[in-house]
Amino acid sequence: MALQTTLKNRMVCQGVGVHTGILSTVTLLPAPEGTGIIFRRTDHPGIAGTIPARFDRVTDTKLGTTIGNVYGVKIHTIEHLMAAIVGCGVTNVIVEIDGAEVPIMDGSAAPFVFLIECAGVVQQSTPQRAIRVREVVRVEDGDKYAELLPGTGFSAELEIAFENCPVIDRQFYAFDLDAPSFKAELARARTFGFKHEVEYLQANGHALGGSLANSIVVDGDRIMNVEGLRYADEFVRHKLLDVVGDMALAGAPLLAQFRGYKTGHALNNQLLRALFARKSAWEAVTLHGRRPALKPAERPMYPGALAAAE
Ligand SMILES: [Zn+2]
Repeated sequence: MALQTTLKNRMVCQGVGVHTGILSTVTLLPAPEGTGIIFRRTDHPGIAGTIPARFDRVTDTKLGTTIGNVYGVKIHTIEHLMAAIVGCGVTNVIVEIDGAEVPIMDGSAAPFVFLIECAGVVQQSTPQRAIRVREVVRVEDGDKYAELLPGTGFSAELEIAFENCPVIDRQFYAFDLDAPSFKAELARARTFGFKHEVEYLQANGHALGGSLANSIVVDGDRIMNVEGLRYADEFVRHKLLDVVGDMALAGAPLLAQFRGYKTGHALNNQLLRALFARKSAWEAVTLHGRRPALKPAERPMYPGALAAAE
C-alpha cells in the first residue's frame, strides 16, 4: 500500500521571478493528509491568498503556468516547483509565497529538489489516492498534440521540433516517473528561449528577471551560455519537466501514459480539462505498491541554492 507523504521540516528559498523580475521568498511547509498541494500568498492573508494547485485554477498559460482564485490573486510560473514536488513523491505540502511569482532559481527544478531533499520526505498513515485514466483523451492545436492513455504508473514521451533551429532541431525523450529518475533525468534541465524573443519580451515588460543565469538562450546556431548544456538533449528534457509539473495539477498522481508533440503549458492544461470533463475517462483509485521517496541528501546537488531549515 502506498502511503501519502509530506515534508519532514519547513524549508525556505528566495529568488527573482523570471517574468516579473521581483524578488520573492517561498516557504515549503509540511501539511496534513488529504491537503494536496496548496499555494498561499502571505501578502493576501486567509482565503483570499489561498489557491489550490489544480488544473481548474489555471488562469494563464502564455509564458508559464499561472494559477489564480476568485479574489483575483494570482501566482505565476508554478510549473518547475510543481514538477519538483511530485517528482520527489511529495503528496501534501503548503507553499507560502510573499509575491506573485515563484522564483526561477537556475531555470530548472534542481534547486527545489535540493530544498525538498533537505526538508526530508516522510510517509503519513493514509493510503495515497490516484487518478486512473481509463480512456484515451487527446487535444490538438494545428500539428501539436497531447494525449493521455491508460497506464499503471506515470510515464511520458515527448517530441519537439524546431526545424529552423539546428541547435535544437528534433528531440525525443521517454520517461517513467519516480524520484530517482526525475532527479537524474529531468530535474536539472533548464528553461530556454531565443535571443530575439527574449529581447522582444523584455521590451514589452516581460522576462524582466530572465538572464543567462536562469535560461538557456539560443542565438541563431549557437548557445549563448558559456557553460553550454547540462544534457545534450536538455531542451526536450525541460519540456518534459514542464509536462510533469503541469500534469501535477490533476490534484493527485496520474496513472497514465502521456504522449505529446510540441506541447506547451496551454495544451497540457487543455488536456487535463478534457480528461476531467469526460466522467468515463477517469476514476479515483487507491494506490497499491510503493512509490519511492527521496532520502535526505548526503551531498547537496545544488550547493548554490539559498536554503535554510527554520
Ligand atoms: Zn519550464
